[in-house]
Amino acid sequence: MFKKPVNKTSGSSSVRIVPLGGLDEIGKNITAIEYNNEIVVIDCGIAFPDDSMLGVDVVIPDFTYLKKNKNKIKGVVITHGHEDHIGGLPYLLKEINVPIYGSKLAIGLVENKLREHKIINTVKRNSVKPGSIIKLGGMKVEFIRTTHSIADAFAIAIHTPEGVVLHSGDFKVDYTPIHGDMIDLHRFAELGKKGVLAFLCESTNVERAGYTKSESTIGPTFEDIFIKSRDSRIMIATFASNIDRVQQVITQAHKNNRKVAVVGRSMVNVVKIASELGYLNVPKGIMVEISEVQKMKPEEVVVIMTGSQGEPMAALSRMANGSHRQLEVIPGDTIVLSSTPIPGNESSVNTVINELIRRGADVVLEDTHVSGHACREEIKLLHSLVKPKYFVPVHGEFRHLKAHAELAQELGMNRKNIFVSTIGDVIEVSKDKARKAKSVEAGRVLVDGLGVGDVGNVVLRDRKHLSEDGLIVAVVTVDSKNNKIVGKPELVSRGFVYVKESEELLREAKDVVNKAIEGLDKNRIKEWSYVKNEVKDKLSDYLWRKTKRSPMILPIIVEV
Ligand SMILES: [Zn+2]
Ligand SMILES: [Zn+2]
Repeated sequence: MFKKPVNKTSGSSSVRIVPLGGLDEIGKNITAIEYNNEIVVIDCGIAFPDDSMLGVDVVIPDFTYLKKNKNKIKGVVITHGHEDHIGGLPYLLKEINVPIYGSKLAIGLVENKLREHKIINTVKRNSVKPGSIIKLGGMKVEFIRTTHSIADAFAIAIHTPEGVVLHSGDFKVDYTPIHGDMIDLHRFAELGKKGVLAFLCESTNVERAGYTKSESTIGPTFEDIFIKSRDSRIMIATFASNIDRVQQVITQAHKNNRKVAVVGRSMVNVVKIASELGYLNVPKGIMVEISEVQKMKPEEVVVIMTGSQGEPMAALSRMANGSHRQLEVIPGDTIVLSSTPIPGNESSVNTVINELIRRGADVVLEDTHVSGHACREEIKLLHSLVKPKYFVPVHGEFRHLKAHAELAQELGMNRKNIFVSTIGDVIEVSKDKARKAKSVEAGRVLVDGLGVGDVGNVVLRDRKHLSEDGLIVAVVTVDSKNNKIVGKPELVSRGFVYVKESEELLREAKDVVNKAIEGLDKNRIKEWSYVKNEVKDKLSDYLWRKTKRSPMILPIIVEV
């Protein structure tokens, strides 16, 4: 099937597995598979910033390794259209222009991003069907159908002369998916029978016993809600990407003669793309504009919206705090949260729920969500079918990867053949051996507005400082010809104290600056750093004594 590579620069013909994101962390999944100086990249996602990353919009993988090996990259293959797998693509494709391959839906969602980043015309996009095999350099890439919380999710098998590297993507074993066929367990078994060299398998729900329920179990819950709330307005918040969930809402709305309004930018985008591409079945005339909702009777409409994670800018949170321009909660509204909070979001979700109830809404949380990820028994099923020689747990924090390694051992794998790794690790596998090789550069790059990577630790430290104690600007005017200070210093403060109630404190602070200036060594007035440091030290001592706060102090010297 394959010719053995002739020109081996690395001196061995092993396959290199290089996870660059998604291990020992949540999100920004990306893995490079390398063979004979050629690279195929699997996914390129984003992560959301944690509380320490003040003002940061998204977090993307560090692409240094890929940039250094730019010429080896044959393409990016996409497992599915979730943000933690496709969100980073525009940033990567701006640096390295290679073709991308994925399901029609995933490509449709990526195209939307490429358009926003104005690179739609330069990137080659290819839709692939489940079961198809493409050739990327000397590697063959096969897309295997799985089931997940978005339609057309794939596992990816990379066929190399050394053997098959199989990446599970995100999956659950759903025998009754809403859209499309069930997971192709046959193909996993076939590959397993022929022999899989290395298996990379997702670990999200590895700590949960049993099986994940099918997406279609949500239908009856929605049906009940529609019956119980037949006289009230129904609003359902979920992830924009969960198209199958949106479908189930639309189906119930249709059955109950209700119109549907979609609210929230990402939700509107995804619904538009999914219905154009045939992933959503939308009965004619059922959709209404959000502006019409307030005019309609409660029993005539269902609203589908974003914000189920308590995101402050999303539709649901705005409604909860009364700042949504077009939608207002009215007593008697039934509001369904069709998702569980992602760890870290619990308290904001809780705040939103309290506010909605305070405004008279009936909030429904029970049985309104199922996970898109496999629990232990489903993960075991896949392992048993695939029977890999080597195993690398992926898509999870360290505890998940570790638990997944233990699960593989329970199933009889040798510990030596399991590689619990972190990003930047390199695992070299060949027919008869595997080892960790020298690691490569990997990490995170913060995106704030249009700036990619310009917000680092120093900027974050300053933002944290400002957010905790505020800022004082001290303006000092220097007559540089005569080496002396002119006039009185000026102080401006923001976020430190309420100026009107702290006149006395600020007056004294000014005196402190004045004294600091008077005490300066006259011969050193031209040394600005000296003047600045003196002002800063004296002022900060004084403020700490008086308030036990340390605002950021910014001395500014004006030369006349
Ligand atoms: Zn996913
Ligand atoms: Zn994922």
